[in-house]
Amino acid sequence: MSGQPATVGFVGLGNMGSLLALNLVRAGFEVVAYDALGPARTPLGARWAPGPADVAREAATVVLSLPDGAVCHEVVRDLQGARDRRVTHVVDTSTVGVAAARALCSMGLAYVDAPVSGGVAGARQRTLMVMYAGSDEDCARVEPVLAGLSDRRRRVGDLPGQAQALKLANNFLSATALAATSEAVTFGRAAGLDPAVMLEVLNSSSGRSGASTDKFPSEVLTGRYAAGFSNTLMAKDVRLYLDEVRRLGGTQALGAVTGSVWEAFSEAEPGADFTRIYPFVAGD
Ligand code: NAD
Repeated sequence: MSGQPATVGFVGLGNMGSLLALNLVRAGFEVVAYDALGPARTPLGARWAPGPADVAREAATVVLSLPDGAVCHEVVRDLQGARDRRVTHVVDTSTVGVAAARALCSMGLAYVDAPVSGGVAGARQRTLMVMYAGSDEDCARVEPVLAGLSDRRRRVGDLPGQAQALKLANNFLSATALAATSEAVTFGRAAGLDPAVMLEVLNSSSGRSGASTDKFPSEVLTGRYAAGFSNTLMAKDVRLYLDEVRRLGGTQALGAVTGSVWEAFSEAEPGADFTRIYPFVAGD
């Protein structure tokens, strides 16, 4: 960046947002950030703002990393209604679902739908996939901010909501693979196999997935269970996926099963790291 660093706003400094905001600081932006829980997770180099309206007055583009569509709606309403606001563009990295993204783009601010995949490890390493959708003009305008968030980006459509559809499909697959791998490893243990040996073989065989190559080795076999994504948020994502499949009249035979497993897990242990699905399924 040349001259004065551009100011970018950030709302939602949780597991993902605190790292994405840090990436923007490191990319040379002046970051002004807010979270409802207070300033504790403001990244080094970013400036705390006492509310969304203050963020709206300082930055033309504001990035969101919030739990769901209802919270994004509340925050966008506050940004849009702020007196003397500078904000014109919102980049929403939250997973909110298709209907919410469509509603958010008609609230008086330009809206780029930009959900992310790759977890907190991906955010740290800048390998997070940012899938995004919006008009040519809006996407071009926020491109430097998207580039500040991650090195991996793909525009997937012109209409906000299209990136959400892809993100929901991704998380349905991810949720299914993690639950299915948990069942398969539980079965293998009962059959006398060592889970580490199972994973080694599965990862050179056709049963591998992100669950077996990444989540099981780093979080389950180590007993860390600290991927930084909650079961509550994963259950929300599968619910949003099923809502959208129903709306489009598609098939959801597997989706319904995956959804019931994640609903049961998040009801039993609300807020647990999503990789704890393995002990939940195994009954450990
Ligand atoms: P999180 O619960 O850790 O963080 C959410 C943050 O939003 C919290 O700090 C909370 O205080 C803040 N917040 C809630 N209401 C607010 C409000 N009204 N105003 C300002 N701040 C508010 O969640 P997360 O894991 O960081 O996920 C954020 C979003 O990113 C979610 O939509 C999630 O589905 C998505 N996501 C997360 C991951 C991951 O690995 N954690 C991966 C991909 C996508």
